[in-house]
Amino acid sequence: ITVVELIEETFDRIKEVETDIDSFITLNEKKALEMAKAIDEKGVSEENILAGLPIGIKDNIVTKDLLTTAASKILYNFEPIYDATVMDKVYQSDMIPVGKLNMDEFAMGGSTENSYFKKTKNAWDQTKVPGGSSGGSAAAVASGQIPLSLGTDTGGSIRQPAAFNGIVGMKPTYGRVSRFGLIAFGSSLDQIGPLTRTVRDNALALNAISGFDEKDGTSSGKSVPDFTAGLDSGVKGMKIALPKEYLDEGVDSDIKEAVLKAADTFRKLGATVEEVSLPHSKYGVAAYYIIASSEASSNLQRYDGIRYGYRSENAATLEDVYVNSRSEGFGDEVKRRIMLGTFSLSAGYYDAFFKKAAQVRTLIREDFKKVFADYDLILGPTTPTVAFGLGEKIDDPVTMYSNDVLTIPVNLAGLPGMSLPCGFSNDLPIGLQLIGNHFDEKTIYKAAYSFE
Ligand code: GLN
Repeated sequence: ITVVELIEETFDRIKEVETDIDSFITLNEKKALEMAKAIDEKGVSEENILAGLPIGIKDNIVTKDLLTTAASKILYNFEPIYDATVMDKVYQSDMIPVGKLNMDEFAMGGSTENSYFKKTKNAWDQTKVPGGSSGGSAAAVASGQIPLSLGTDTGGSIRQPAAFNGIVGMKPTYGRVSRFGLIAFGSSLDQIGPLTRTVRDNALALNAISGFDEKDGTSSGKSVPDFTAGLDSGVKGMKIALPKEYLDEGVDSDIKEAVLKAADTFRKLGATVEEVSLPHSKYGVAAYYIIASSEASSNLQRYDGIRYGYRSENAATLEDVYVNSRSEGFGDEVKRRIMLGTFSLSAGYYDAFFKKAAQVRTLIREDFKKVFADYDLILGPTTPTVAFGLGEKIDDPVTMYSNDVLTIPVNLAGLPGMSLPCGFSNDLPIGLQLIGNHFDEKTIYKAAYSFE
């Protein structure tokens, strides 16, 4: 099969499946076919195992000359003049971006229902949400349209949709993958990562996108190991921690059962699994929504109706341009975050909100540090429930927010975390979460591979 044939078949498949799933905002058909032709002409080398593979890109990652909306009306016509660093890496490995994937507006949400453009459906049941905010990235892979995609995770947005769609999603260590060209949400939390159907594919994709980038001030200089090396060396002797807070009342009984069964599987494979405590986890959601919203309120100041994106027609003064462009361009959830964040940062409230949240963040980090002094890996569920119904939680932000209770602490601590499938509840996939120590994605991949 030639790369052109592969890409043609990919678009045939996309067109067939998209009528049900709605995971893409923009397709890149013409350019993808040109790239495929060029790769066929120069030939695919043995080392470059990813060459010619179709990849989908979450629409908050900027792509030169290709519409990048962050699923917001305020960027409805934004064609970037440069590529994100991860896109440079995608091109270096000769992967072919076939399109831009739907998401919650500015990655704020957990169901992809906050997109300005469309509602993506879960790959397993089209009455259910695909999760979010990388819902398009997860549903497109799970429905067999593309073998891999890039998503972003600020509080769970790769792992939760991966769990809801029964695929493998990795949020790397903060600093592992460059954020240059990622439309910022919570800059101290955001990370780009791969979503795939298998663990090995995921490791290959992370190999391709990782590494130091001088254009990202928080990018790490740590060397990047080959994440596929030793993948099959097993978990014998591995020390795995099971935090008791992750199996609390809020977690569905089917999910608890599946996680305990996974723990037994790891024991049978030669690991030890022991219960531990992460006592400050329960404050994670509260701290996260203050920190992430504060950072967002600052990051979103650049959308002023002047420089790029949507500008209101309805403006007599400069002030009107700002106010009306933002009022008409941002959706409700984004406005809620801007208000929350601006309030938390304001003089007189800073100490009680932002500062307190930052202190809680340190406690959560310390909790993990203590566990990783004795253990190699942490095991738990990715989400307290399986995929919920479209429309079920959208009018109740607090319920929606609490769905992130198990993923958020990982972002607050900057740790790597993966979701991989571990069973079903009512015919919907359950996600198993594996959390590693800083820059130790390798242990996660090893354990995931032996479990898969
Ligand atoms: N659901 C969380 C939020 O709404 C996480 C989003 C994310 O990770 N981008 O903020």
